[in-house]
Amino acid sequence: MKRYDYILVGAGAAGMQLLAAFCRDPFFSNYSILVIDADSKTSNDRTWCWWERGEGAWSELVEKRWEQVSVVGGRAMQFGVEDYSYNMLHSAKFYAAVKAMSQAHGGIDWVQERYVKHREQQDFVEVMTEGNRYEGKYLFTSVANLKEAMRSTQHPYLHQHFIGWFVKTEHPVFDANTALMMDFCVEQRGNTRFMYVLPTSPSEALVEYTLFSDTLLSEGEYEQAITEYLGGLQAGAVKIQHKERGAIPMTTYPFWKHNTQRVLHIGIAGGWTRASTGYTFHNSTKESMRLAASLKAGLSDMRSFHASSRFHFYDFVVLDVLKRRNDVGAAFFSRIFETNRIHVVFDFLNGQSTLQQEINIVSKSSPRLQLMYSVLRYVFSRLGFHLYRYKGLYRMK
Ligand SMILES: Cc1cc2nc3c(=O)[nH]c(=O)nc-3n(C[C@H](O)[C@H](O)[C@H](O)COP(=O)(O)OP(=O)(O)OC[C@H]3O[C@@H](n4cnc5c(N)ncnc54)[C@H](O)[C@@H]3O)c2cc1C
Repeated sequence: MKRYDYILVGAGAAGMQLLAAFCRDPFFSNYSILVIDADSKTSNDRTWCWWERGEGAWSELVEKRWEQVSVVGGRAMQFGVEDYSYNMLHSAKFYAAVKAMSQAHGGIDWVQERYVKHREQQDFVEVMTEGNRYEGKYLFTSVANLKEAMRSTQHPYLHQHFIGWFVKTEHPVFDANTALMMDFCVEQRGNTRFMYVLPTSPSEALVEYTLFSDTLLSEGEYEQAITEYLGGLQAGAVKIQHKERGAIPMTTYPFWKHNTQRVLHIGIAGGWTRASTGYTFHNSTKESMRLAASLKAGLSDMRSFHASSRFHFYDFVVLDVLKRRNDVGAAFFSRIFETNRIHVVFDFLNGQSTLQQEINIVSKSSPRLQLMYSVLRYVFSRLGFHLYRYKGLYRMK
């Protein structure tokens, strides 16, 4: 049986970015790689956005770039994004581009099969799909075990859940130059709820009704909120061109603990999501490049890939506040944008701010008492106390 150098299970945002990192570096040109995904990866199932300075790994594929963003809290705030841009990419275009890169590589096989399990041996990993068995020296998997994260008693877990409509409206109601990141004008109903609007012309936009909360809604509830929002804008007749939906984990659960010598979890499954925002795409670009560079430099034990950072602490505190007081999100996020320069907020959310900037952000944040209480709870969590139960109840060990 052929033994591959690498097996990638899951060719989504992270799997494909890792594949692209291998294809771009001549060091990996003789490596044999097997990609396993249950899906054909041809549909436009995601719209990815991220902010970035200058040109990046996916600039050529970017569909739309905004140089202004806005947030609507107590008041409407509009910001020029300074040396950043806010970029949008359609997944179908990205999947096609990476598949083309992998064809050019010549040593990459693809199978469309469902992964079932893997077993680690001393020198290799066996990967079982529904119909076959494969061997690779290392396995990179984006199959996530979210149940375990949800059941964690030491880490907060919320869903970032949404339905988005790509609409064409009768009247020109959007500002095509501005990405509306959070519009908290919608009823909060005890949660953190907002509209996210990405306009591509005055009468075309992706309009998403988004919540950071414990429980998902019925499809009708998201859709009614979008309808009401567009009604409020006086958009006139609305043609829905495409829909997307998602539920992204927001958690500080240490996914990396599941890594072993020969198996590395990547993407959401590896904790590559920024827990307090749900943004994963750009972090996956950075982590994939870091992984390829580490492998090239001789990384042979995947347990040493994880790099801890102080942003884990900030994420814990934000999520813990939202978990306990899901109604304060609108005020919390509005204040962050109100009291800080936009590039500092972006640096912070990208995990690239300085300690001084972080102290400034934290000192101006509110609700202060809740934040301080969550800092205390972070300490308890590190000491092994059990803080969470389903329904947001918590108890000490
Ligand atoms: C609609 C939507 C919009 C989003 N927008 C943004 C955004 O704007 N910016 C951002 O940063 N993040 C965004 N996210 C969050 C995040 O970037 C995406 O969820 C991203 O796709 C996560 O990458 P991943 O590789 O971890 O998972 P995925 O991209 O979901 O890839 C996992 C892959 O594994 C495959 N797979 C799963 N189980 C098996 C199995 N048993 N056998 C074989 N294959 C399997 C799947 O078919 C899939 O291809 C969005 C998410 C969604 C759902």
